[in-house]
Amino acid sequence: MEEFKLRIVTPDRVFYEGDAEMVEFNTTEGEIGVLPGHIPMTVIIKPGILRITEKDGEKTAALHSGFAEILPDKITILAEIAEWPDEIDIERANAAKIRAEERIRSHTQETDLARAETALQRAIARISVIK
Ligand code: ATP
Repeated sequence: MEEFKLRIVTPDRVFYEGDAEMVEFNTTEGEIGVLPGHIPMTVIIKPGILRITEKDGEKTAALHSGFAEILPDKITILAEIAEWPDEIDIERANAAKIRAEERIRSHTQETDLARAETALQRAIARISVIK
């Protein structure tokens, strides 16, 4: 299987750097799975599960927002937040989910619904990575 270079950078660290056969994540256009040789494009990341398929196995993480630059032999993700499963506090994510659901359910004119929905997506992404 062919590979491409994958680099994922967040403001505080190089989250991942290596060779991958496939990378999957959520975007404003929906879930995508990128293989080597993909046509060049740039996508906007939405909260979801990041799945990296390497020659010897698979890695998963939570990826919350940012951009991905896709080139045939190289994919660069600039993310605001990315978390490996062992970095996720499940209690905190469950609490954030309940808070966001409650905010959406009881929303008023003052509620920033888009913000609450994004918070809910982040919490769901974290919980899904743990499961
Ligand atoms: P919360 O409402 O619990 O703060 P949030 O989704 O609003 O959740 P973010 O703004 O996405 O939080 O993240 C702020 C910082 O807190 C980031 O560094 C993120 O990695 C960290 N963080 C948030 N939730 C968790 C969690 N459940 N486990 C580990 N780190 C978390």
